[in-house]
Amino acid sequence: MLQPRITRYPDGITAVDTEYVRPGHAAAHIIRQDGRAAFVDTGTNYSVPYLLAALEELGLTPAAVDYVLLTHVHLDHAGGAGKLMQALPNARAVLHPRGAPHMIDPSKLIAASKVVYGEENYRRLYGDLVPIAAERVVTTQDGQRLNWAGRELEFVHTPGHALHHHAIVDLAYGNIFTGDTFGMSYRECDTAQGAFIVPTTTPTQFDPEQLITSVRRLAAYAPKALFLMHYARVTDVPRLADSMEQQIREFVRIACEDGDAAVIRSKMRAYWFSLLRQHGCELSEAKLDDLFGLDLDLNTQGLIAWLARAKEKS
Ligand SMILES: [Zn+2]
Repeated sequence: MLQPRITRYPDGITAVDTEYVRPGHAAAHIIRQDGRAAFVDTGTNYSVPYLLAALEELGLTPAAVDYVLLTHVHLDHAGGAGKLMQALPNARAVLHPRGAPHMIDPSKLIAASKVVYGEENYRRLYGDLVPIAAERVVTTQDGQRLNWAGRELEFVHTPGHALHHHAIVDLAYGNIFTGDTFGMSYRECDTAQGAFIVPTTTPTQFDPEQLITSVRRLAAYAPKALFLMHYARVTDVPRLADSMEQQIREFVRIACEDGDAAVIRSKMRAYWFSLLRQHGCELSEAKLDDLFGLDLDLNTQGLIAWLARAKEKS
């Protein structure tokens, strides 16, 4: 029997490892409320069996799932949404209006993702995307609230990582599901100082000023905890918000200094490793390269894409 890696948190929230890239890299979340359930993000097609096994382990049936809340349509978050929806007879998918069309007709999303990942990696990581029927898709407005089984959720449009990104504020409990807007924090890098966080500047819509504005906007809710896809629950939000802003400004400085990919990557790597040492992280450089290698690649690509757009504008 398939064994999902799950972590149970307060407030009826469970993280499920989507088994993307490596254990501990990406987590979908299940929110339980009065015998009902909602997913926040899904992982890829290959994650779906783990999500269904996690539901079962929590004593929930697929019919109990009312919503699949997708923070944005990057494939490590939403690539498995169509396939998951096939198994959930009563669920509706909730998306930012700019993201919804790409789940209903994923052809553009597939093409764009192949550019970022390459054809072979694309197949290995994501497989064939399943469209979601338009009548099962709900879109959000900025600030819109959803009263779900007595639990009030607020959707906040948070551009910066992607233009079609929204975060989900769990108002009564002081939690926010931040997708990728509030960066990534791997549990392996937790120390006595707490969580270590880094921004994700994945192509092709990274925008530093928008991202800083969105981070500040989420921090202004003064949440007790954030739930990140990469990876799960963090607290001490004001400190993390400051670190996010500082790093985004440093990335911009690095990218503007020399636009060469290898140079950007190596400077970002050195910067992160020095921050990690200040944070009290004692992992070896080899282990840190394992943890952050893919992020360094994607962040570099995203910064270069942003530079190109910024030059076009000027
Ligand atoms: Zn993303």
